[in-house]
Amino acid sequence: TDQFGIQEALSKLGIQEVNKGTSTGSNSFANGEIIESYSPVDGTLIAKVQASTKEDYEAAMEKASEAFKSWRLVPAPKRGEIVRQMGDELRKYKEPLGQLVSYEMGKSLQEGLGEVQEMIDICDFAVGLSRQLYGLTMHSERPMHRMYEQYHPVGIVGIISAFNFPVAVWSWNAMLAWVCGDVCIWKPSEKAPLCGIACQNIIQSVLERNDIPEGVSCLINGRENGDLMNNDKRLPLVSFTGSTRVGRHVSKTVAERFGNTILELGGNNAIIVSEHADLSMVLVGAVFGAVGTAGQRCTSTRRLIIHESMYDKTVEVLKSAYAQLKIGNPLDSNNHVGPLIDKDSVNNYLNAIEKAKAEGGKVIVEGGVMEGEGYESGCYVKPCIIEAKNNFEIVQHETFAPVLYIMKYSNLEDAIAMQNDVPQGLSSALFTNSMREMELFLSQAGSDCGIANVNIGTSGAEIGGAFGGEKETGGGRESGSDAWKAYMRRQTNTINYGTELPLAQGISFDI
Ligand code: NAD
Repeated sequence: TDQFGIQEALSKLGIQEVNKGTSTGSNSFANGEIIESYSPVDGTLIAKVQASTKEDYEAAMEKASEAFKSWRLVPAPKRGEIVRQMGDELRKYKEPLGQLVSYEMGKSLQEGLGEVQEMIDICDFAVGLSRQLYGLTMHSERPMHRMYEQYHPVGIVGIISAFNFPVAVWSWNAMLAWVCGDVCIWKPSEKAPLCGIACQNIIQSVLERNDIPEGVSCLINGRENGDLMNNDKRLPLVSFTGSTRVGRHVSKTVAERFGNTILELGGNNAIIVSEHADLSMVLVGAVFGAVGTAGQRCTSTRRLIIHESMYDKTVEVLKSAYAQLKIGNPLDSNNHVGPLIDKDSVNNYLNAIEKAKAEGGKVIVEGGVMEGEGYESGCYVKPCIIEAKNNFEIVQHETFAPVLYIMKYSNLEDAIAMQNDVPQGLSSALFTNSMREMELFLSQAGSDCGIANVNIGTSGAEIGGAFGGEKETGGGRESGSDAWKAYMRRQTNTINYGTELPLAQGISFDI
């Protein structure tokens, strides 16, 4: 029955008590309720995981606080060396971890492996970064004074992650936080708890081998722990990835206690197809963007804004591409579209289609739930396309499923206005061969998103750039560029090496 090698993968990852007892791996903070992890691929109960109680949470926080005291004193390049070893360990486990991601979350095996590759890439990035945590030096206005700034670790970083990138999001945060000298406490999604355990198991061996205290990386499970984190003053930074609804609550709660957040929330991403677009490129970008990960990426393409002269042709090629999509087990590389995460998600998808129709949308490619052999989990749906208006209420919302809304435009300014006219601001793209259109789209009068691409779809960012979005996407930035600064506190230092004490701004104070 183990056609896709899942049992073997689980055992390689140290997740042993499959299907019977609980599996906690090397995580010691797990004495609470049972979370059952079902695969959306075939509906199987993969394993049971024990959540963390309040006491577990407290124990983890104590371990983390203690570990921070020593970890912050380890020179940053030495911390980088630990992260380098973690990258090597992830290379060893790329295959089974990619399989688990695919089986527990439902994305294709290729995308599961791609997610682990992102983890490896961010490790490499962080290693280099560990020698580049630069501050500036400034010229003081006072004689014989030196002024500079330096970056110090913030302390314990809370990481709360979404189900759809069950391993990569943690690593984007944790690897940077670690080279910055912080320690981490991670609460993964209850929809993919085994991925968290597998990651903890993989890095645990590196920590043990190097005599690094366990508290540098703490794993806790269970949704209630999210609220403990929001309210915990010992967490100066909470990095939250998830829906705008929950993110709003996290943001308010953490701000109330003057903590910082990195918020990576929902998107509503559009591709503009210009009259100067190369349609064969649009096809790959739009179809992968809309149906890849069954539309469950924060950067999934939700809207296509098509020039009127290209509309009929684009619809025609989309229809024929959608007709060829194979829906089924994501571990089978012949399939293009895997399942949604659970039945709630299937209901959201069905409701969105009904709402779009009720608002006047015209179905171009019919949706529906797949039934029969291979679809027993009840989570497989048909990617659909609906002709809609940008101001439909349902179009203004993110539906985390493969529903693509298409609409027409006649001039680029209007198309950019439509693309921007949603509450979210994560990813955006323009397909064009016109330099003028491209520059307008990327200008200050162009896309208002955190990510703006030309001749590339909305999904599939590289780790080297800062990742995140504006407006209801939350404004956070993670991963590359100078995103590391969010994990550190800046200190300005002025040193007087003279024998007088002149005051700034020429103020005299004689005593
Ligand atoms: P979700 O908001 O339901 O859950 C996200 C996490 O929040 C989970 O770990 C959950 O347990 C936790 N949580 C729930 N209640 C909480 C509370 N009161 N306090 C603290 N934590 C709490 O999201 P989801 O369904 O897992 O993920 C899908 C959403 O995530 C989509 O909206 C998607 O766009 C977004 N997402 C955004 C990015 C990004 O980088 N912008 C990346 C991935 C996913």
